[in-house]
Amino acid sequence: MDDVRDRIEKELGSVMGRLRQLGGAVVIEEFPGALGDNSPFSDPTEEVQVQGEREVSFATRSLLVERANRLAEALDRLREGEYGTCEECGEPIAPARLKAMPEVTTCVRCQDKLERLARRLEPAAVLFGEPEEED
Ligand SMILES: [Zn+2]
Repeated sequence: MDDVRDRIEKELGSVMGRLRQLGGAVVIEEFPGALGDNSPFSDPTEEVQVQGEREVSFATRSLLVERANRLAEALDRLREGEYGTCEECGEPIAPARLKAMPEVTTCVRCQDKLERLARRLEPAAVLFGEPEEED
């Protein structure tokens, strides 16, 4: 488990570092490889930062803040011995999933359920998300 803590702390550190950079001017420079290859999804913030636009860096910033919060929460959960347990159903979260995204708080099933629910609650997502639906 100390491994996990280490990873989360490192990740949090690098997210905070990026936030600090964004705090001042527009960020174009990145630390290549600072985040390692531990994310299975390409980070949406990577692409947008290349453009170096102010609004984009604002969006990037809130993404990073969100991420930092989740990572800090994960550290709390680790301290409390709740890490790796699904918040929703109480089942253990698959180790592979935790490895890919150390900050997750739900298992795949619950995540899926929550996402579906969120989509239903967001009219914008319905409007732009599935234009083919004609029912
Ligand atoms: Zn669950």
